[in-house]
Amino acid sequence: MEVYDAVVIGAGQAGLSAAYHLKRRGISHVVLDADDAPGGAWQHRWDSLTMHDVHGIAALPDSDSPTDAAGRANVVVPAYFGSYERAHDLAVLRPVRVDRVESVLPEDGQSLLVVHAGDRSWTTRTIVNATGTWTQPYVPHYPGIGTFRGEQLHTAGYPGPDHFRGRRVVVVGGGASAVQLLGEIAPVAADTLWVTRRAPVWRTDDFTPEAGRAAVALVEDRVRRGLPPRSVVSVTGLALREQEREAERLGAYERHPMFTVIEPDGVRMPDGTSWSADTILWATGFRPAIAHLAPLHLRSEQGGIQLDHAGTTAVADPRVQLVGYGPSASTIGANRAGRAAAAGVARRLDQRSRASS
Ligand code: FAD
Repeated sequence: MEVYDAVVIGAGQAGLSAAYHLKRRGISHVVLDADDAPGGAWQHRWDSLTMHDVHGIAALPDSDSPTDAAGRANVVVPAYFGSYERAHDLAVLRPVRVDRVESVLPEDGQSLLVVHAGDRSWTTRTIVNATGTWTQPYVPHYPGIGTFRGEQLHTAGYPGPDHFRGRRVVVVGGGASAVQLLGEIAPVAADTLWVTRRAPVWRTDDFTPEAGRAAVALVEDRVRRGLPPRSVVSVTGLALREQEREAERLGAYERHPMFTVIEPDGVRMPDGTSWSADTILWATGFRPAIAHLAPLHLRSEQGGIQLDHAGTTAVADPRVQLVGYGPSASTIGANRAGRAAAAGVARRLDQRSRASS
């Protein structure tokens, strides 16, 4: 039986960065990725998202980030990842969707992990989990949600602005996606209503690196305490760009509090008035895709997976590294986490070999 030193699960920004650093350290590993092609979640982003719209894609280690500002993000980034995998000869197997990871105790007493995908399995001393959030769109439960006769969509399935032509659309959520999609939908829709739980925080000055670091530090603090992570973007504040000025002029960024109930034809607002709607678009974010790790019992009592001070090692099981989770859920964070995870794997292998000698 082949035993790897590490199995990386997921080949987005975080998994590729981890694989690069594992390779540099000479640590034997394989990368398993559920998608049919390179690109991580970027290959599934909506067609109208251009490289100009994204906040910036950090370069993968030892490469330059893509320069095509006009191109579609779901084409440019997958092409970049694909050529990166080839240039660095990274061992990615796809499509392989991991459904569970289990701990086993062989006779020599040195525990191992078995990574299962259907009837295939890989045995390893450590794992680096890099499965992102895209496969776990989050829709909060609101009274009456099942009674709505119109259409409900999540940003993960955003079909582009034309779909909303002439419709009355409720957009739910206070993050960057809601702002961006309102910018596209409001100019073609019959009307839009933007609702958020908390009043949005607009950036008043240019977003500085210090403000970015402070935002990441807040999320880091949450995962060190074992709390469920928040999105990094949720703490950086919002800004309107040129392409959102038309929607602004139409009043689309007048924010309303959450509706109290969803009714068959629309939503009921806290002041008792109703707003009739054809579509509810949930721009309510994503949750970490970690169900396959459940057999390892990593969750703390606070509901999140507690990570150590280096930021990637699970406190409950140091054989497990989590990258692209919590504070590292951005392209720059994912990059750094890949390096930290490879160091964490090396530390664990070292402890193992000292324990056996
Ligand atoms: P992903 O890119 O999601 O990759 C995860 C990989 O894991 C996928 O290839 C998937 O197939 C695989 N996988 C999932 N489950 C399994 C499984 N069970 N078994 C095997 N493989 C699995 N960040 C920025 O820095 N700048 C931006 O401009 C920016 N814009 C964004 C725009 C949108 C609309 C969104 C939603 C996010 C944006 N982000 C941005 C955040 C950024 O995209 C992510 O933080 C980062 O790309 C995530 O990389 P990742 O490697 O963690 O995950």
